[in-house]
Amino acid sequence: MRKAGQVVAEIMAKTREFVKPGVTTLQIDKIAREVIERRGARSNFLNYYGFPAVICTSPNNMIVHGIPSDYKVKEGDILSIDCGAIIEGYHGDAAYTMAVGEVSALASRLIDVTEKSLHSAIAVMEAGNRLHDIGREVQRVAEAAGFSVVRKYVGHAIGTAMHEEPQVPNYWPGSPGPKLKVGNVFAVEPMVNVGDPDTIELDDGWSVVTADGSLSAHFEHTIAITENGPEILTLP
Ligand code: MG
Ligand code: MG
Repeated sequence: MRKAGQVVAEIMAKTREFVKPGVTTLQIDKIAREVIERRGARSNFLNYYGFPAVICTSPNNMIVHGIPSDYKVKEGDILSIDCGAIIEGYHGDAAYTMAVGEVSALASRLIDVTEKSLHSAIAVMEAGNRLHDIGREVQRVAEAAGFSVVRKYVGHAIGTAMHEEPQVPNYWPGSPGPKLKVGNVFAVEPMVNVGDPDTIELDDGWSVVTADGSLSAHFEHTIAITENGPEILTLP
């Protein structure tokens, strides 16, 4: 899983470097495909329930699952890129949101808070702590900043499949859940909205946007629980 994580880390680095005003989200997908091919990996996104690309590209009020297209990113956009890879049967999964050129102070703060909520959650991923300590931490950080966390879409365990049980909500679901154990691996992925947490799925059957049209950001890492604490497998 460390190997798969490193491919995902490279996809994140290469796509981030490539994105600038005027590039299409389909061109960004091509950059990701090149990394997957060169590293001898396979895509876990391509053909997943028929998904047509190796990354998801979700601008502005789109939360997740955007399909790469001829949409040209523009100055002032925020863009979420979700990506994954399989090596030797094991999966990695990660996402980030970036500013395209100069963005509003609000957009910039949303990106910072969402990333901070992820890292604050990772910090509690110690063996013996509870699964839902993760979501409680995401929710604490996001709501302290005046934002909301999406309820309908959640993180997940990951291994020989991308989405394994149990789910990892980004909020306190009312009970602590199972104990975290050494060897568990989770994809933790806060989706944070400026406005309400409600979502709408578009007619393409994939793209999920905020119901109130407000901006949304998404960060994700694949994290292993080790004897020495949490290890982020998708960090370069
Ligand atoms: Mg993902
Ligand atoms: Mg995921």
